[in-house]
Amino acid sequence: MPEQAAENLSPIAISQQQFTRATAHLAHLQAGLVEVLNSPKRTVSVCFPIEMSDASVRSFHGYRVLHSNALGPGKGGIRYHPELTQEEVTALASLMTWKCALLNVPFGGAKGGVICDSKSLTQNDLRRITRRFISELGNNIGPHTDIPAPDMYTNEQTMAWVYDTYDMLHTGNNNSAVVTGKPIDLGGSLGRKEATGRGCLYVTQRFLETGLIPGLVNLKNARVIIQGLGNVGSVAAKLFAEAGARIIALSDSQGGIYNKDGIDLNEALNFKKQHDTIVGLPETLSLTNEDMLQMECDILIPAAMSNQICQHNAHEIKAKLVVEAANAPVTPAADDILYARGIPVLPDILSNAGGVVVSYYEWVQNNQNESWELEMIQHKLKRKMYSAVDSVVERMKVRTEVCEKDCDDSRVVDLRTMAHMIAIERVAKVTLERGIWP
Ligand code: NAD
Repeated sequence: MPEQAAENLSPIAISQQQFTRATAHLAHLQAGLVEVLNSPKRTVSVCFPIEMSDASVRSFHGYRVLHSNALGPGKGGIRYHPELTQEEVTALASLMTWKCALLNVPFGGAKGGVICDSKSLTQNDLRRITRRFISELGNNIGPHTDIPAPDMYTNEQTMAWVYDTYDMLHTGNNNSAVVTGKPIDLGGSLGRKEATGRGCLYVTQRFLETGLIPGLVNLKNARVIIQGLGNVGSVAAKLFAEAGARIIALSDSQGGIYNKDGIDLNEALNFKKQHDTIVGLPETLSLTNEDMLQMECDILIPAAMSNQICQHNAHEIKAKLVVEAANAPVTPAADDILYARGIPVLPDILSNAGGVVVSYYEWVQNNQNESWELEMIQHKLKRKMYSAVDSVVERMKVRTEVCEKDCDDSRVVDLRTMAHMIAIERVAKVTLERGIWP
């Protein structure tokens, strides 16, 4: 067999490919407008000194990219990671634009972060880095300009420091809407922590109801595999099990475990607490992460890292449906392979959007000085997620019927491309309605 060219797995290359695939089917958009939609509106790059806990002084680099504010203020996480790059932040900011547009949340897309290894830093170091980073960003963030949230290696505590710093610099205003993912007593929303996993459940349930997967119309006894047992993976595992699914395999960074009759999540989490991993849980078979992805199942949920299903293993996936809980776990080459094999992929901008939806609800509550009940938040989240699934599925059905009538397979698209097409069209429409300034 001829050797395959290596896939370019950089986040920017992948987001560009997804954008290009979608705009190729949006011929009515002017080339100049497509270029505008593809370019970040503002990139802020900062470098600042910090006096560390050991009295040494170190420089840190940080970024905040506002990809678009056509639909509303920018929205996106702040991550702390030693390998963070401006390119990665830029790609993730554009993903946020499409996610908010698809979900009909009135926000644009943004992302930011600081290059640092949070695991090796003290809480005092992290507090100083956060405060200095936020003060360097100045008015580039704000309740009506760009609203950060937690992301990799940042949490509620980080968001509390973000709020406090901004509030110190803008006294006399209600500033709580400057950041979401705050602690509840500081204006955080009920249901925010589990929102991404819960959104993932709602999206999957609604998609199954369409009957597009023969023999799998609900989660009753569905065999589910989840990669990653962090915030998103563990909440998804709990909620899918409560909805009647059988979690037959789970994994963390050390490896995976399998039991065809189902794994008790509480037992797995308790075992992880004691042993720092789920691998070795009694009555389960140990597997590598790679092997786990290739086990036969009904629903495969990658909920850990990007690029997990790529050109090398997409041929081996035996799921009936893949649900992207992580950001970009399926590469464009894998998308093509899975599509050709008839395995639908519910794309990240749809299936992990529950977090940004409840972040939006937090922002609304903060602006109104209110706090909503959990039941109401879950109900609103469900309606939003269902409606986004319906818009993608309906448009897919119409397009597929037209293509079949015209005997033109080349215009049939996968779910990801359709979701991006809907999102890009919404941002394009609003950009034109607002008018190009001046
Ligand atoms: P997390 O840090 O809480 O958990 C990540 C999990 O992945 C951990 O259990 C870790 O052990 C596991 N992991 C790490 N390396 C692994 C490997 N090689 N194989 C298998 N598992 C591995 O992160 P999270 O908040 O659960 O986020 C998970 C993914 O979902 C990320 O891609 C994130 O960007 C995306 N996401 C999260 C949210 C949110 O609200 N938390 C929202 C949208 C998207």
